[in-house]
Amino acid sequence: MGTKARAAVQVADRRYEIEEFDLPVIGPDAALLRVDACGMCGSDVEQYDGGFAALGVGYPLIPGHEPVGTIAEIGSEAARRWGVRAGDRVAVEPVLGCGYCRACLVGDYRRCRSVRPGAALNAYGYLPTAVAPGLWGGYAEYMYLEPRTVVHRLSADLPLELAAMYQPMAAGIRWAAHDSGLKAGDTVVVLGCGQRGLTGVVAAREAGAGRIIVTGLAKDAHKLDLARQFGADHTIVADEDDTVAAVAEFTGGAGADVVVDVTAVSTRPIVDAVEIAKPGATIVLAGVKGSGATVPGLVPDKIVAKELTLKGLWSQDIRAFEPALRLIESRKYPLERLHTHTFGLDEVATAVETLAGRVRGEDAVHVMIAPHLT
Ligand SMILES: [Zn+2]
Ligand SMILES: [Zn+2]
Repeated sequence: MGTKARAAVQVADRRYEIEEFDLPVIGPDAALLRVDACGMCGSDVEQYDGGFAALGVGYPLIPGHEPVGTIAEIGSEAARRWGVRAGDRVAVEPVLGCGYCRACLVGDYRRCRSVRPGAALNAYGYLPTAVAPGLWGGYAEYMYLEPRTVVHRLSADLPLELAAMYQPMAAGIRWAAHDSGLKAGDTVVVLGCGQRGLTGVVAAREAGAGRIIVTGLAKDAHKLDLARQFGADHTIVADEDDTVAAVAEFTGGAGADVVVDVTAVSTRPIVDAVEIAKPGATIVLAGVKGSGATVPGLVPDKIVAKELTLKGLWSQDIRAFEPALRLIESRKYPLERLHTHTFGLDEVATAVETLAGRVRGEDAVHVMIAPHLT
């Protein structure tokens, strides 16, 4: 280990520069992580395009909020509190709760709003480099782990491609299983087949779903194929077939007990969800549609008449990260099929463009950055 870390720093919308940072001095309650890999998700595309800058998350900053790495150095207090030692492989939760506010005290640290001076969001990958010691993101060789960090130790022989899926897997578990009210035997419709739609299929299968139906677009043929490999019973090409009619056909007119919408931008799936939901069903809304988006065609009285539960879900926490890591480690599902691309630090922009589907000929599902790859 030298005394410097290279990092991909976002300096403006769609622009990264490689910079070197001094490795921070590690106090008794903190640690230094050698970043082995960092997963990339849809919100990285939004961040790349400037969507978070609009919310006040200022530049320059080191993005990357799905890091997996090896503890390079750790203070005695942090080692005692976190139960890890130097040399351990860990996955890092993105959210940095303050530990003192009401949200943190009742265990909802995802909702902590006690933001640091100079920052707009309390999460790795979103703190500007101006907040000391600067190494707050996973697109760097090393990352500072501050005292409130939540880390999860994981098996050292787990391939990095799999380890770096802990966040999409946790989202799938929380959105499609834990918080959707899914019961064994239920019919589940997952609208959207990105990383989180596909991990949702795995989670629903694991939770005992009776029938799983997944939608995607014609251009998502490779993802719909993966959905079937992970246990989906039926897939629907939403821009060619009528989703509502297809679900009616697959369920003999009964509809879905649980509908999970993970599509981005498009609001049409929300209208479809209300149509395909059984009376008493739960609809999980977890796809971000863009600020100011409204839902044309939504008939609220159908929600009333069918007594539907609409549940918005955002991100995930320890309750989902723990089972996600255990499920990945179990190797029960061929999750390695989700991984499509690995890039080095110098290629972060290409990686984001690839994940976003803006690189012709590349069908990306799970993309990760390996900062030490040269
Ligand atoms: Zn993410
Ligand atoms: Zn807090």
